[in-house]
Amino acid sequence: MTIQPRPTRTIPKLAIYDRMESQVRSYARSMPRQFTRAEGVWMYDENDGRYLDFLAGCSTLNYGHNHPILKQALLDYISADGITHSLDLHTEAKADFLHTFETLILKPRNLDYRAMFTGPTGTNAVEAALKLARKITGRQHVVAFTNGFHGMTLGALACTGNAGKRGGAGIPLNHVSHEPYDGYYGPDVDTAQMLDQRLSDPSSGLDAPAAILVETVQGEGGLNTASPEWLRSIADIAKRHGALLIVDDIQAGCGRTGSFFSFEDVGIVPDIVTLAKSLSGMGLPFALTLFHPELDQWSPGEHNGTFRGNNHAFVTATATLRHFWSSDAFMEDVKRRGNYLGKRLEKMAEAHDLSTRGRGMMRGLDVKSGKIAQRITSVAFERGLIIETSGAHDEVVKVLAPLVIDDDLLVQGLDILEDCVRRAYEPAFVVAAD
Ligand SMILES: *Cc1c(COP(=O)(O)O)cnc(C)c1O
Repeated sequence: MTIQPRPTRTIPKLAIYDRMESQVRSYARSMPRQFTRAEGVWMYDENDGRYLDFLAGCSTLNYGHNHPILKQALLDYISADGITHSLDLHTEAKADFLHTFETLILKPRNLDYRAMFTGPTGTNAVEAALKLARKITGRQHVVAFTNGFHGMTLGALACTGNAGKRGGAGIPLNHVSHEPYDGYYGPDVDTAQMLDQRLSDPSSGLDAPAAILVETVQGEGGLNTASPEWLRSIADIAKRHGALLIVDDIQAGCGRTGSFFSFEDVGIVPDIVTLAKSLSGMGLPFALTLFHPELDQWSPGEHNGTFRGNNHAFVTATATLRHFWSSDAFMEDVKRRGNYLGKRLEKMAEAHDLSTRGRGMMRGLDVKSGKIAQRITSVAFERGLIIETSGAHDEVVKVLAPLVIDDDLLVQGLDILEDCVRRAYEPAFVVAAD
């Protein structure tokens, strides 16, 4: 299968976006096309341009676009006049999801969590987690980490590191400190030990935290990866200092790192876990906050939301769990592809004296410059490969291919990427682009 060259002329139809849509849009700027349909790992524009999707909705489309089994489950449900919206009423679709999640995900992993359906975005799941931790501990302060990303609403934004995003708040973002993540000061500094020391010192000025909020792999923050030892230390520190451990698994969860939860091979059991992005399996909005039953100290309606009963998402999430998660076969495939991806990125890194980031199918190439990363992604887009950047300076080219991608298409996409990286370092290209 070959990837078709894209027409580069500007499409007059895009004028509507300049005229009507807010300046706040971002991804659309680096991909100025109008997309019409999508199937599997492919997106199509109105001129029949075809794009291999290595962004996958920032890991929202782990099972690709419009997976036939998920699509059929949803079509059947709608055709039978299944309930669409139900506030938080009991519905058959919700019960199916809860049963399936309990049986296929929690029980086999020996996890005992209660499920809270929040509003359907990731940031809402994080807000709920923070509120709950503060309510239970009676403490206000939260420890988050450098380069962490947790969402755009004020509580979650306060835990987010990126200055550009924080600036949008318009008010002080407080009650959170951003402690150095694993590796922040290089491989020889144990930042978990630093945190422990500061929390143990009554004169360090660091308030006792309600929670420690962490990503195991920092999705937006540059694919920095915490080591299992570091994560175990953080879990231990949380316990000893009376804080709840929240793992934000919104991007790294749902199979991206090679297991359903990104922490399950690490040997920690968080008190609270947030999930969203690929949870519905089909790109429908759906978020979940999980916590140990004894932490379920909410009063009815204390955290609320109109769209907590997204039944269409329950239906596709259940179909996803049944189809992909009833055996280990899918994860074996993901691990194998993840290893291949790692090897290919290592090779690119070696060729240009760069380094790689991430783990599983959540990896990237640190090209040390946002400008070079952008050259790579824009040339890739012209060649029919959708790929984005991550990191404090957008310096990491991030591969988030759907987990279901056929091996030969993964090879083809990485061939294109390799070529784009090579071109970005050719002197002629550098001069022309500058
Ligand atoms: C995307 C993301 C969020 C926010 O999710 P939204 O649905 O955009 O609100 C929070 N945490 C992590 C780790 C994410 O990747």
